[in-house]
Amino acid sequence: MYEKPLTLAVDLYGCPNRCLHCWLGHMPNRVMEPDADRWIVDRFRPYFRSIEFFSWLREPDFCPDYRARWERDKQLCVNAVPPRFELASFWRLVRDPDYVNFLKEVGVSCVQLTFFGLEAATDRCVGRKGAFRELLRATELLLEHEISPRWQAFVDEENRNELPELLRLSEELDLAGRCAAFGGVFKFFVHPGSCDGENRRRYPIRIRKDHIPPELIPYFYHYELLQPESELCAAWRDERAHVVYHNEDRIVLYVSNTYDLYFNFTHMRPEWRIGNLKTDPMDELVRRVVEEDTPALRAARAVTLGELVRLCGDPGSDRAFEPEDYKSYLFNKYLEERAWKAR
Ligand code: SF4
Repeated sequence: MYEKPLTLAVDLYGCPNRCLHCWLGHMPNRVMEPDADRWIVDRFRPYFRSIEFFSWLREPDFCPDYRARWERDKQLCVNAVPPRFELASFWRLVRDPDYVNFLKEVGVSCVQLTFFGLEAATDRCVGRKGAFRELLRATELLLEHEISPRWQAFVDEENRNELPELLRLSEELDLAGRCAAFGGVFKFFVHPGSCDGENRRRYPIRIRKDHIPPELIPYFYHYELLQPESELCAAWRDERAHVVYHNEDRIVLYVSNTYDLYFNFTHMRPEWRIGNLKTDPMDELVRRVVEEDTPALRAARAVTLGELVRLCGDPGSDRAFEPEDYKSYLFNKYLEERAWKAR
C-alpha cells in the first residue's frame, strides 16, 4: 500500500470546446461506460491509501446531472475530499440557469474564463461561434451571483494588439468595481501558455518579449521569467543536467476515455502513455507509476539539456518562453522527432 496520495482525473464526458491552445491535446468526445468511474477507482484501491477522484479532466461539469455527479465523485474518493477549483463550464453557465446556483452551493467564489482577443479571435480559437458572447454572458451571470470572474487571455504574435482592447473592455464593464462591491476580486492576466498539446502548433506565432504591448506588462503572468529562445539556448548549450519530471507530494494521473493512463506532466500524446487500464496488468501499471518508469521518462533521464538545445533549439529565435516551459518544448520536440521514431 503506497502512502503518497493519488489523484485520478478521468475524461468521462469530454469537452464542448476545441481551444487552439489546449495543452492536453484534442481528443474525440466519448461518454464512457456508466460503471467506468467505480471500475477505475477499484483498480487502484488495493495500492493507494488515499485516492481523490474527478470525473473530468477537460471541461468540469460537462454532464447534465452535474449535482449527482459531484456527489458521486465525492463518494468514490478514498480517504480524501476532492477540492472544487476556480473552474467551471461557461458552456453550461449560459445554457442552464440552475448551474450558477450549484457553483454557489459548492463554495466556488471565483471562476476563470479564457479569451483569445475579441469576438472573432476568441470564437476561432475556442473552436465555437458564439464563444466570446457566451464568455461575456457568463461574466454577468457570475457577477449577479457574487462570484468573481477571472479573465485569462492567451497572447501570441497574431492577437497581441487586440488584447489591450480586451483589457479596456473589462474596465468599461467595471468588473473590478463590481466584484469589490460584494467583497470579490476581479483579475485579468495574460500569458502565452506552455508549449504542449495544441499550443505546440502555435510555436511559429509565439510572442516575442519586446512585442508585448506595454499596457499588458502589469498583467503579464511571470513576465520577469520570460526569456528569448536565443538566450535560453546560449545559456544551456553545454548544460549537463536533465529535464526532470517528478511527482512530489502527490501522484496525479489522467485517464483518457479509452482507459489510457498518463501523468499530468505534459500533453496526452502516445510518447507519454503509461499504459492502458484494460489491457495492461495492474501490478505492472502501478509499478510504472510509482517508479516513474516509462519510455518517455527514461529518455528524459538519458539526454542532457545541452543535447536537447543542440538538437532541437533555434539559437536564432527570439520567441519568448519561461525556462520550464522551454525545457518541455525541447524535450517534446526531441521525443517526437528523434527518440520516439528511433524506437
Ligand atoms: S483548453 Fe480546456 S476547454 Fe479548451 S479544449 Fe482543452 S480541455 Fe477543453
